[in-house]
Amino acid sequence: MSWVFSKLASKFGELRSSTSTLPSPGPGLEHLDVSDDESDYGSEDSLTSTDTSPSSDARSAADAVLRGLDVGTEEPMHPADVLSLLQEGNDRFVKGTSLAVRRNDVVRREIVDLSQSPHAAIVGCSDCQAPLESIFDSLPGDIFAFKNAGNTCIHANGSMVASLEFCTEELGCRFILVLGHRHCGVLLDACKSHAAKQKSGCGDCALNGLQHDLSSVIDQAAELASSVSLISGDRRSADDIVKLSERAVEVNVFQTLELLLRFSETIRQNVRSGQVELQAAIFDEASGKVEFLGTHPMQEELLESSTPVPPWPTEKGKASCCMPLPKNCEVPAPKEAIETLRLGNARYVAGVSENTQAKPGRTAIANPFCSVLACADVRVPVDTVFDMKPGDIFVMRNAGNTCTHAAGSIMSSLEFSAMKFGVRLILILGHTQCASITGAVRACMAGQAQSGRLSRSLGKVAQEAADQLGEGVGLARLSLCAVKLNVLQTMEIVLRHSRPIRELAQSGRVQVQGAVYHMESGCVEFLGPLPNETEVLVDA
Ligand SMILES: [Zn+2]
Ligand SMILES: [Zn+2]
Repeated sequence: MSWVFSKLASKFGELRSSTSTLPSPGPGLEHLDVSDDESDYGSEDSLTSTDTSPSSDARSAADAVLRGLDVGTEEPMHPADVLSLLQEGNDRFVKGTSLAVRRNDVVRREIVDLSQSPHAAIVGCSDCQAPLESIFDSLPGDIFAFKNAGNTCIHANGSMVASLEFCTEELGCRFILVLGHRHCGVLLDACKSHAAKQKSGCGDCALNGLQHDLSSVIDQAAELASSVSLISGDRRSADDIVKLSERAVEVNVFQTLELLLRFSETIRQNVRSGQVELQAAIFDEASGKVEFLGTHPMQEELLESSTPVPPWPTEKGKASCCMPLPKNCEVPAPKEAIETLRLGNARYVAGVSENTQAKPGRTAIANPFCSVLACADVRVPVDTVFDMKPGDIFVMRNAGNTCTHAAGSIMSSLEFSAMKFGVRLILILGHTQCASITGAVRACMAGQAQSGRLSRSLGKVAQEAADQLGEGVGLARLSLCAVKLNVLQTMEIVLRHSRPIRELAQSGRVQVQGAVYHMESGCVEFLGPLPNETEVLVDA
């Protein structure tokens, strides 16, 4: 056993006693029974308990006592304090004494006025059913919630690196947490493919990159698992695969830490100077508990490394994507899916949401009916905005709902959702008061040059908005225009640069649509498909 494995093994040894096991392997992603635990989220008694909870005023007062709501004027917290904040919030979530209120007009109005200085940037997984805000019972604006398939960082030029650099450099955030989760459908699927020696995705898919990244995780997990004789030999039973995926969840969070350090000189510098702390943790759905795993065991070495970005695996030239769609999946058509989201948002706006906040205890693998790419600073969980049960939506979040690289983790997550879960609607969701976009618009108005990958991409959108609206337009109008243009730009990038999604769109199976969440009113404005979609699909 190599040194890194022994270090990881000793780290995980401490965990063993407290971790739960995954559910017995179900029939697979295409058929999942969630009916038995419906009561966890939407039952009448949980609604009643909401009614008997303290009034919004009492809760706001409690929040203020806890730690003033005016986060906008605060300096970002010291990493050690952020860790305690997250631990305390998670304790409240586990005990069912969460303080944060999300379906509440008062809080919604309050958070609109807050400027963004998030204390923690958290990278979670898209198929984790509890929103990150709920898991840490965080107050609005406390955290930037990033999400992709498998809480990964698969490309140095992808949006996770760009988002985290933006969050630490521009917003001053000092704590980055990579959060895996025990019942991860993405890793379970990767373990199944690995065991069957299946190749998922062709050379042209971004999904191939995710698969490549996860297969190295699973190789390490298999080595670890066999070293503690969890799994014997080459023939793996269904039970072995579940054990293997549990191990893979642990290896994967450390791999993401490693890749972030390897890929970003900015993050390395900030960690080296003590400005930023980079830690891993795992969320256990059954208990609701987050196990904090600390920093990477080889962080010192990784900080010294200047490893060049690994080459991107490509085998171009395939006629079409080779991956089969899931069988027997009854996923609603795009039109139906939009209608479901529209009705849910209307309930949210009217204050008659049917779905309560996430609670510990849900352990089925998610079975989403659509995918939504939203911004990390939207300050409300996407499930809440659409009044959906956790797990109904495959949520991806990064800074500015962008797609900065064709082979990055957002593209591969979108492909994963369309090809593994069979979702037929991909919604790109922008929002008003977006820190990323307002910053770009301000810089554009002041004629400042943009540095940083994300700022450059958003700077282009800001310039386009300024060109469209002409002289003498205020920051608010310009920003709203830029928010919409940015949604359209992301839609176009997805259709132009993802071969599988383009093919699914051409055949009418999948639709890419846009929307803007108006934070002031809670309303979602649906923008429909790309106006020039036909052209884009033809000449891509
Ligand atoms: Zn997952
Ligand atoms: Zn935003």
